[in-house]
Amino acid sequence: MTQIIHHIPELREYLKNSEDIVLVPTMGNLHAGHLSLVEIAKQYGKTVVVSVFVNPLQFGPTEDYAEYPRTLEEDCTKLKSIGVDVVFAPGLDDMYPDQQTCFVVPDEAVLEASSRPGFFLGVATVVLKLFNIVQPKTAIFGKKDYQQLRVIQTMTRQLNLPIQIIGAPIARAEDGLALSSRNSYLSEAERAEAPRLHAVLEEIQSLVLQGDLNYSQLIENGLNTLRAHGWKPDYIAICPQDNLSLMPSSNVPLVVLGAATLGTTRLIDNIEITPAN
Ligand code: AMP
Repeated sequence: MTQIIHHIPELREYLKNSEDIVLVPTMGNLHAGHLSLVEIAKQYGKTVVVSVFVNPLQFGPTEDYAEYPRTLEEDCTKLKSIGVDVVFAPGLDDMYPDQQTCFVVPDEAVLEASSRPGFFLGVATVVLKLFNIVQPKTAIFGKKDYQQLRVIQTMTRQLNLPIQIIGAPIARAEDGLALSSRNSYLSEAERAEAPRLHAVLEEIQSLVLQGDLNYSQLIENGLNTLRAHGWKPDYIAICPQDNLSLMPSSNVPLVVLGAATLGTTRLIDNIEITPAN
């Protein structure tokens, strides 16, 4: 039976004899991408905890914290139907009882961090809190948020947390658009245009795999394609998979990442480029 728990003392009481806990942190409004993380979580441990918390600390002052879709009842129905053990849905007072002055400040300064100051401070801080509350052995994060996954892996290593971090594949709609809670902001016409971000990244992936090393030109072409179709691109970047701050080179596995705004909706996506040899 799925337990729905809102407060930390009840959660600790419920989990006190559980070993082998796997945590899937989310902000709710769950789609098939989130549910795929739960399926992976089941392979890694006995007790699967899904947290649902829209974290104000990771939203900038002009971002969509107030509008972010909150659908806890539907989320719980979905999580029950796939046999999650615990849904942890804390309130603001549970997660931030004081005026918070103690933060995790990741040292990443690239890509999302440049575009969204304070975002990774908010993400890393809430994830560390969730780790301390739930004390999982393993936590699952989607590669959809590639840089977030790297920030969490770095935090876990640098702060010596005894937690295994697993990156899960991106779940996509049939037309290639990465599933995201923010897709619900798209108008019908924007939704039809939205898969282009994936298509542009895929085109770059394919050219790099064919041996094209002119990364800056590939990026420029990708940005121009997006602009020509009405997007406001934020960045396209080609980076080593294990360190997004370094320059790409032909002898390490790469990832191509992109962020762009369509109408008023900012979308992110990425594709790993792993040579077949
Ligand atoms: P969010 O609720 O957007 O904070 O996402 C919660 C977790 O689900 C994060 O680890 C995301 O990377 C992951 N996630 C979101 N969308 C997808 C997707 N389309 N495929 C795989 N994982 C995803």
